[in-house]
Amino acid sequence: MGSESPLDGKTPLQFVPGIGPGRAPLFERLGLRRAIDLLFFFPRNYQDIAPWKSVLELEDGGRATVLGRVVDLDRRSSFDGRSILGVLLALEGGGYLRCVWFNQPFRHDQFPRGIRVLATGVVKATGVAFEIRHPETVILGDDEAPPAARPMPVYPLTEGLQQRHVAKAVAAVLPLSDAVEEALPEAIRQRIIPEALLPIAQALKTIHQPATLEEAQRARERFIFQELFVLQLALAMHRYAVQHAKPSPAIVATPQIHSRILKRFPFELTVNQLQVIEEVRRDMEKEIPMNRLIQGDVGAGKTAIAYYAMLNAVANRYQAALMVPTELLARQHFSKLQQQLRDSQVMIELLTGSLSSAVRRELLQRIALGTVDIVIGTQALIGEHVDFAKLGLLVIDEQHRFGVEQRAALRDSRLSPHYLVMTATPIPRTLAMTAFGDLDVSILRDRPPGQSAVTTYVSDIAHHDRWWRFVIEQVRSGRQAFVVAPRLDQGRAETSTNESAGEESLGAIQWYENLKNGPLADLRLALVHGRMDGEEKQQRLDDFATGKTDVLVATTVIEVGIDVPNAAVMTILDADRLGLAQLHQLRGRVGRGRFPGYVCLFPRADLDSNDRKRLEEFAASNDGFALAELDLRTRGPGELLGTRQSGLPPLKIADLARDEVWVFQARDIAGEVIDRDPTLTLPEHTLLRRQVVSKHGQALAISDVG
Ligand code: ADP
Ligand code: MG
Repeated sequence: MGSESPLDGKTPLQFVPGIGPGRAPLFERLGLRRAIDLLFFFPRNYQDIAPWKSVLELEDGGRATVLGRVVDLDRRSSFDGRSILGVLLALEGGGYLRCVWFNQPFRHDQFPRGIRVLATGVVKATGVAFEIRHPETVILGDDEAPPAARPMPVYPLTEGLQQRHVAKAVAAVLPLSDAVEEALPEAIRQRIIPEALLPIAQALKTIHQPATLEEAQRARERFIFQELFVLQLALAMHRYAVQHAKPSPAIVATPQIHSRILKRFPFELTVNQLQVIEEVRRDMEKEIPMNRLIQGDVGAGKTAIAYYAMLNAVANRYQAALMVPTELLARQHFSKLQQQLRDSQVMIELLTGSLSSAVRRELLQRIALGTVDIVIGTQALIGEHVDFAKLGLLVIDEQHRFGVEQRAALRDSRLSPHYLVMTATPIPRTLAMTAFGDLDVSILRDRPPGQSAVTTYVSDIAHHDRWWRFVIEQVRSGRQAFVVAPRLDQGRAETSTNESAGEESLGAIQWYENLKNGPLADLRLALVHGRMDGEEKQQRLDDFATGKTDVLVATTVIEVGIDVPNAAVMTILDADRLGLAQLHQLRGRVGRGRFPGYVCLFPRADLDSNDRKRLEEFAASNDGFALAELDLRTRGPGELLGTRQSGLPPLKIADLARDEVWVFQARDIAGEVIDRDPTLTLPEHTLLRRQVVSKHGQALAISDVG
């Protein structure tokens, strides 16, 4: 292809006017190779060009755009060590204005003297002159007319590339918009409220060259919707495929079975638990696999739901498996269930990574033969092809660490078991609809009776002694205590924590020694952590559960699930290293019985006031959902709201936190479309199907659908 040929979508960027072989590599660094890539390279923002102002029209606090030449630059440091860059502009309408950047020294080289700059931002009258802090800027050529007063797109850049280079190249490819095929059928675009979506050609032109910010927003919405819609279609297709691939066993809880199971519980189930059980029951009766997420705060009583479902499977002569994140938790479920099923025929086994290979082989054989009814295990359960004779149900407890992808992998077996997931991690609604969009959700809201209040304090080192006296007092009155240190060993994290390693602080091992030989010398202490072998860990945990020890010093291994109703006191050292969700999980280990719980957080000595405030807010609230939101606000959405943890590709233009209404619409419409055309084979869906497969086919194993 020569540079004279007319452009089409496939034209390499070096042939696009304004790019050429010189600049093409810069575009390539942004992931752009062909004309079509550039067409779909969206501005990340717009510079809102307020009509030009001369210095006479500027007002303190008002937003304005000014045009001027750089006449002076100054660089300083403020008293607290920040660098300050000032760029003085001589405005074309007369007068001066200073642009100011803090801590962005690299900008110095962007504004050589004499260059023409268009700067937009909020004007501040300093008394000496007007200034704009951190303005949005565009550099204009000497004879370049200032753009009309319309929003200027702001593109992501790379070194050596300027906004005007991108804008110019985009302008050259923009006519190609008319040739882009429309993936969203008219009928779908019309259904969007409050306003129909723009057709593709118009949306492309507008997103790059809007006349107003409102127009830009409408164009963006089309692409936000489209991105979420393609994701929701993928999820709906996945779900449809799962439901229609292999039938699952119809597991019916007859009234006899139902009451027999309920009798096995040491307590009356709450109304809320029974409601959720009812939902589970109805799911399991169907030959379509159940695919349900149970959400409930720490201590809400999710275990009972899991046990019910498993016993229901077993009563119907199917096997059930329970997968949990840690060996400790597996062992605890194992002994709890065994106790609950004393003098019954049900055969329960434990499958974890620490079995000897002989024992393991023998166990796998029995599982394959069907002589084991319930298998409780860690990841080892799905890790290495465990063959079940008749697996009817798979339960995953504390599952926030397994995303869609892993769930898709689980499906890969010959079996199509029912599937139940339980989590105490509150998942924001939009995330639940995307990362977990293939699941039905039940919520366990009320706590079972008999749990006691937990009081949380934030203290500091100066009060250690007083607190240890309180711990001793509690133990003397019959209670037990946890002491949690996030680190295992001096300066070594056992699990990931808030900050990077570095400075010295004591780990669980040192705390154990110090307490045993110091303030808690008269009590019976034990240590548990993740590096111990399974038997030993279990032994120490059993000793604690049966009251043979008074104080369990631990890393965060005890975070999930550990259930010792007599434990009433918890000390969390270096508490500021942990996220609120994790602290909340830990705190859930006390106050589980008749006795009120007391939790004391000891942050590190050099805690800043924001971190302290975060801990104090934590102490004041006992609501896991509220805390998750607080975590979201203070630690930023990136982690939690990304689709990263779900194994899905990242979103390009949509934002799950911001675009909630679009998530809802996309989900509803995708559901209807897939109901009507489950594999997207109708002609009007061809393009959508192609997008679904190319973006999500791999993660969701739907490439072969249809
Ligand atoms: P989680 O939802 O955190 O998994 P659990 O299932 O471990 O919560 O339950 C928390 C505690 O409440 C356990 O000690 C459990 O035995 C107890 N429990 C659960 N359901 C009830 C109930 N209906 N009545 C009384 N106690 C209950
Ligand atoms: Mg639990």
